Amino acid sequence: MGRPSAERREDLIASYREARHCVKCALSAGRTQVVFGAGNADADLMFVGEAPGFHEDRQGIPFVGRAGKLLDELLAEQGLARESVFIANTVLCRPPENRDPQPGEIATCRPYLERKVELIEPKVICTLGNFATKLLTGSPQGITRVHGVPQEREMGGRTVKLFPIFHPAAALRTPAVKQQLREDFARLPALLGEAPFGDASQSGG
Ligand code: URA
Repeated sequence: MGRPSAERREDLIASYREARHCVKCALSAGRTQVVFGAGNADADLMFVGEAPGFHEDRQGIPFVGRAGKLLDELLAEQGLARESVFIANTVLCRPPENRDPQPGEIATCRPYLERKVELIEPKVICTLGNFATKLLTGSPQGITRVHGVPQEREMGGRTVKLFPIFHPAAALRTPAVKQQLREDFARLPALLGEAPFGDASQSGG
């Protein structure tokens, strides 16, 4: 039995309160505020992007720019509201000039992400693009190779299904990537309904 969702939610708020003051890496010096993540604290589906950009840093909410609009659109196509999922990033703070987050910054921020997964208890985590995918799969294989292939991983003390997909910002740049992202999104309802890996009792097989 998992912990009651109200308790987990309280702990998530406590984690946010701690993260708000984080100065564990140099990114803290350039931020307006941390972008902890947003959405349903008890979501079955979680998204992990790369890093906050200009608008996210200003508003304190992930994916509020153009890539976020596409994410909302793709969710809506599958009958999913943004409010029903939880959205986070590999790092909490915007890198200067939107540069790539550095390995040390991602590693320093990782416990915040692990804690979110532990408390939210998602069934499926969509990693958006290379940074989140390599971080959470623990493999150097890039998103072009692994997108659309669910992978089972231990995270936050539980088994979760990772589902790597292209980053919406890449989809905005390349129509073929957008089409692929849309096709991968179309598999989400089935993945969410699916039993955990290896649990034949819930799959009828
Ligand atoms: N891109 C990301 O990876 N994360 C955001 O929050 C916004 C854009």
